[in-house]
Amino acid sequence: MKKRFCAALLSACLLLSAGACAPQREKMSDSLEAMDTFMTIEVYGASGNELSSVRANIEALDKRLSVTNEKGEDNEIFRVNQNGAGMVSPDVADLAEQALTLCRETDGALDITVLPVVEEWGFISKNYHIPTAERLAKLLPLVDYTQVSCKNNTLKLNKSGMKLDFGAVAKGYIADKATDILRSADCKSAILNLGGTIAAFGEKQNGQPWRVGIADPDNSATFMGYLSCKDKIIATSGSYERSFAGADGKVYSHIIDPKTGIPVDNGILSVTIISDSGVRSDGLSTALFVMGRDRAETYYRRHSGFDYVMLTADKKAYVTAGAAESFTVAQGYDYEIVRIS
Ligand code: ADP
Ligand code: MG
Repeated sequence: MKKRFCAALLSACLLLSAGACAPQREKMSDSLEAMDTFMTIEVYGASGNELSSVRANIEALDKRLSVTNEKGEDNEIFRVNQNGAGMVSPDVADLAEQALTLCRETDGALDITVLPVVEEWGFISKNYHIPTAERLAKLLPLVDYTQVSCKNNTLKLNKSGMKLDFGAVAKGYIADKATDILRSADCKSAILNLGGTIAAFGEKQNGQPWRVGIADPDNSATFMGYLSCKDKIIATSGSYERSFAGADGKVYSHIIDPKTGIPVDNGILSVTIISDSGVRSDGLSTALFVMGRDRAETYYRRHSGFDYVMLTADKKAYVTAGAAESFTVAQGYDYEIVRIS
């Protein structure tokens, strides 16, 4: 609910800023609920067909990637999880291949087979509880992306009881598909808020870059800073987004370390990734969160093509060289900026 409110607020801010700069081309907008969040799409200079095509694409993927059977037929991942294997649409196979590559590159910090553990903590049913150590020990062998194969549009899980979850990358994939549609329709300017994953497509009507807010982890309805972006997908994973207080009084977040099966508690409050690829931005926002500060820095130095802003509980903002140029801290916030190069 909180997340929906935040998405709606960001959308309202974007609307205000767009309205203020006298658009030269007609603005068309749409909004929908998908993937358990609220999404908004604003496109400039479109015919209208692109908007309906983007919406249809999001709705189809939402059903296909669902891990429950609430969304009716077409729930391809739910069926693969039930049967241990199954044919999927080319889009889902494409996402699975890209996600598996990221799982390998991040050495399993991102692991698309973490669902049995995510379910055990109650993050799907919203019936939260702390699992026993015995229960986790039983489930952990099922968390192993190396036991997933994807060939000829068929996904196969090599161990009985394994389950796939594309929750960490799905919104990024939607961002990629949507911007593909807009690009091929020769559209020049659009901003999509897919619930924590933003596609800043082209630039604003006045030729300025889009201004994308980074949520204040203490109050996610406001922004602690802004990124100026053109043609980028910006994804944030925040511990504040979905969490619960356990019987022990500790707060447990929905981002889980696949090696331990336990929600990450490493002093990081949020990770925002900026890159050209939605799957990469979304997947790495989760993975770098799991890695923690030092491993994330090492990963950044060894891999190119992305930048990040990492906020920590001791009020520091770790900002990579590429992001530093486009990042500004909002008035009234006193984060210490630590530059990563
Ligand atoms: P959000 O969905 O809130 O934007 P993320 O992109 O970080 O946040 O994805 C978190 C979701 O991904 C969780 O709700 C869970 O379903 C799943 N998940 C949690 N930990 C991992 C992990 N280490 N690897 C892959 N998926 C994860
Ligand atoms: Mg993610």
